[in-house]
Amino acid sequence: AAAPLGHSVIPIVNKLQDIFAQLGSQSSIELPQVAVVGSQSSGKSSVLESLVGRDFLPRGNDICTRRPLVLQLVQRKRKADGMDEEWGEFLHLPGRKFFDFNEIRREIQAETDREAGGNKGVSDKQIRLKIFSPNVLDITLVDLPGLTKVPVGDQPSDIEARIRTMIMSYIKLPSCLILAVTPANSDLANSDALQMAGIADPDGYRTIGVITKLDIMDRGTDARNFLLGKVIPLRLGYIGVVNRSQEDIQLNRSIKDALIAEEKFFRSRPVYSDLADRCGVPQLAKKLNQILVQHIKTVLPGLKSRISAALVSVAKEHASYGEITESKAGQGALLLNILSKYSEAFSSMIEGKNEEMSTS
Ligand code: GDP
Ligand code: MG
Repeated sequence: AAAPLGHSVIPIVNKLQDIFAQLGSQSSIELPQVAVVGSQSSGKSSVLESLVGRDFLPRGNDICTRRPLVLQLVQRKRKADGMDEEWGEFLHLPGRKFFDFNEIRREIQAETDREAGGNKGVSDKQIRLKIFSPNVLDITLVDLPGLTKVPVGDQPSDIEARIRTMIMSYIKLPSCLILAVTPANSDLANSDALQMAGIADPDGYRTIGVITKLDIMDRGTDARNFLLGKVIPLRLGYIGVVNRSQEDIQLNRSIKDALIAEEKFFRSRPVYSDLADRCGVPQLAKKLNQILVQHIKTVLPGLKSRISAALVSVAKEHASYGEITESKAGQGALLLNILSKYSEAFSSMIEGKNEEMSTS
């Protein structure tokens, strides 16, 4: 069922994130978002792409994700003619709409190279992308570089520690939901994803285990015990998925076909037949939505006070602009205005919707 908060709160949250990003302090405010964590090539980008339902992320059997990608999904009403219009916009290319999702992928790659170089370098500078679509849940997703152990290309010798710190800066936020991605063909007990998620979220209130690559497990093995939480228990549980293989990517297999293939995979495997609610990308989307609603309910009051605090500090900054330049002062006043507006919206939402929230 659609979440009562999905349509009203998250657009405001996203807007706020934008405003704070403009202020250069997006990490100082802890807003609900979903980040992926896991080893390199565990399938993090593939999972995010399936959740979005469009092909646009660099994926592959190598280090593809080399900068954090903050992806805001924005739900747009279907046009009157019933046609779906979907496009992407980057914060670093204001005003330019990307209707071709292959071009979005190329721009992510190009922008990655601009900051992190062309030789496997990694940077913690974000790429911010919005996807407007009638087919998405309003949510912010963060695709992160995967954990690696051995430096390659231009990577510094302390690459593992650097990537850990970068990932931790996202997943330590109490308002961040963690998708801890582990491939089924590796040992769950050795999962980097679960190890890091366990540090960031020791009580497991915001970690969902995602087991990928169920299709390429060793013959005679299955992921039942993983999915049932018998190997490493997780409060919010696990979802098993089957993403596209490298060959599927090379053959340009569509997400739609991949979802059909995934469904067929689970239908044809009796060992998963009684675990239907833990299998497949659609179940992951459903679980996320439910958890997100719960999560937002919990963090809203704290968010409200943080916004008030940010408001005070912007006001102070604004006052100090008086002595600097006029254009800066104008900018400050504008931001102050926008912030006040959204702060009010938040207040009325928290006060007005308590009833509705507690019955959801
Ligand atoms: P990331 O580095 O964690 O973002 O991983 P990617 O999403 O880039 O995927 C790494 C490689 O694993 C790609 O070649 C994918 O095609 C492949 N892959 C990801 N998930 C699955 C899966 O469920 N099954 C199979 N067979 N391959 C997968
Ligand atoms: Mg990736």
